Amino acid sequence: MISEKLQALHRRINDAAARTGRDPKEVRLLAVSKTVGPEAVLEAARAGHRAFGENKVQEAVEKIEALRTHGLEWHFIGHLQKNKVKYIPGRFALVHSIDSLDLAERLARTCREQGVVTPVLIQVNVSGEDSKFGIPPGDLEPLLDRARALDGIDPVGLMTLPPFDPDPEKARPHFARLRELRDRLGGQPGLSLPHLSMGMSHDFEVAVEEGATWIRVGTLLFGPRPD
Ligand SMILES: *Cc1c(COP(=O)(O)O)cnc(C)c1O
Repeated sequence: MISEKLQALHRRINDAAARTGRDPKEVRLLAVSKTVGPEAVLEAARAGHRAFGENKVQEAVEKIEALRTHGLEWHFIGHLQKNKVKYIPGRFALVHSIDSLDLAERLARTCREQGVVTPVLIQVNVSGEDSKFGIPPGDLEPLLDRARALDGIDPVGLMTLPPFDPDPEKARPHFARLRELRDRLGGQPGLSLPHLSMGMSHDFEVAVEEGATWIRVGTLLFGPRPD
């Protein structure tokens, strides 16, 4: 039952927040529904959950359309191809995966044309591992400066996806590094970056301990995905 899994997950989020003296209300759960059919999303919605994450534009657009009467909130968390940017404005509450200035500019332009402002996170490759998307930490400050100047998008924080390791403690230094980057670049007046999107099914508790405000959890809620 998804409702029981949601309850168990919220208990673990609360416990992890309590361990570090955080207010659990600062931590929001994004249910990652990629590859999951609309019925299971609806089951989670009936259990009171509202925010869902998708990583493929086409799949997301179909699900959003099929479920549009249910008042859900959709986030985009995958690599966003330039020719898919036009599907974003008005559909997604938050894009977690801005990974280049070119993408930021294209999305901002499309949002302006449609008269909306889309909140975004900049995806940072904190580990420097070259197989992952995301910008190197050294490129973050100039990208943020440019992105903040664009009408149509609103940078509200940072996201990271560390290299997979079954031991959640291996992710801790990456999460801590993202928080430190945020504290340094979001510490100036008027330039706050309140959101940190980090942590998945196997390492979300560590992410909460390190300051996550959005955790992205799929498998723990919906079960294993087909390869
Ligand atoms: C699939 C995915 C997740 C969820 O992963 P689980 O291990 O199933 O919780 C989180 N973030 C991103 C970017 C993903 O693509």
